[in-house]
Amino acid sequence: MVYAADEQRYEKLPYRRVSDSGLILPAVSFGLWRNLGDQMPLENSKKVILKAFDSGIFSFDNASNYGPSNGTAEETFGQVFRQDLKPYRDELVITTKAGYHMWPGPLGEFSGKKTLVAALDLSLQRMGLDYVDIFYAHRWDPNTRLEETARALDLIVKQGKALYVGVSNYNAEQTAAIAKIFETLGTPFIGNQVSYNMLNRTAESDGLLEVLDQNHAGLVAYGPLAEGLLTSKYLNDIPDDYPIHRTNAVLFENGKVDLIDKLNALNEIAQQRGQSLSQMALAWLLKDRRVASVVIGASNVAHLIDNLKFSDNLTFSGDELTTIESILSK
Ligand code: NDP
Repeated sequence: MVYAADEQRYEKLPYRRVSDSGLILPAVSFGLWRNLGDQMPLENSKKVILKAFDSGIFSFDNASNYGPSNGTAEETFGQVFRQDLKPYRDELVITTKAGYHMWPGPLGEFSGKKTLVAALDLSLQRMGLDYVDIFYAHRWDPNTRLEETARALDLIVKQGKALYVGVSNYNAEQTAAIAKIFETLGTPFIGNQVSYNMLNRTAESDGLLEVLDQNHAGLVAYGPLAEGLLTSKYLNDIPDDYPIHRTNAVLFENGKVDLIDKLNALNEIAQQRGQSLSQMALAWLLKDRRVASVVIGASNVAHLIDNLKFSDNLTFSGDELTTIESILSK
């Protein structure tokens, strides 16, 4: 059956401009890190991706190494794109990244020119695309001169393989340094994709939001639900084999019981707001206009639909914000 997108899709979800650029992102983007790769039946992945698009999510986030097996998330997205989404290419913001381990040998990771150029070529092939909308250097490279990374990203834009470039997992200082080079080169730098959620606020404390704002760029928040901690899943217990991302490991520093207490206190406020914890966690991030989009992951349609109800209540009273701060600062 030929897929036809829901005609009301742009009425369902807020979208926002990235700083004062021409790029507009849905408030929520959909990421394919480890939820729709080689371990999932294609039929399910297709359902989730198309449901996302029908719900107003027109940005899909990938990376060379996503899967779990390298490249398989991009292959999944590529299959759905070729079969169903191709007619909508001009509506879509498709993003990918390179820098984590992608192929054997020393050139299969980090941000040297050869690595970034080769990685993007492979990503384009896997997804069946001529270009991506944003190409990110996925992590800080301590050994490659920053100017080489910036020039490689600039070249990729000049070659027409990406419309905008970004960085990911750079701290405020690193972001300021590369933004300065981009400014000299005239490269369309659009933002930094970093871990940011109610429980992990490094993006606020290290000044990253200000640096991005000063550079006409936005923050794209990944892991907004802290890999599922900020949902109703872990209100009673967090299993010992819980797959925490390295950026959120610090959340366990006062022990599991303390974290579960915090989640329950947050959940209570969410309920008073008529929301689930995940819906409140998304709304909370989006109260800051410098957050251009939050990237969620889900492996089933039910989770996706549940989360998207966040937009029913986007405003926070002063009292709610104060209570949330007091819970989070305990
Ligand atoms: P989330 O914070 O959205 O967490 C996703 C997890 O939450 C999944 O385990 C999902 O479970 C669970 N979940 C989602 N909704 C619900 C719900 N309503 N009820 C219960 N559980 C729920 O994000 P991710 O950590 O997955 O990251 C999202 C995206 O961010 C990635 O796909 C990737 O694109 C990007 N990212 C970027 C990184 C970078 O270095 N730049 C690093 C990490 C992520 P289930 O799968 O069962 O639905």
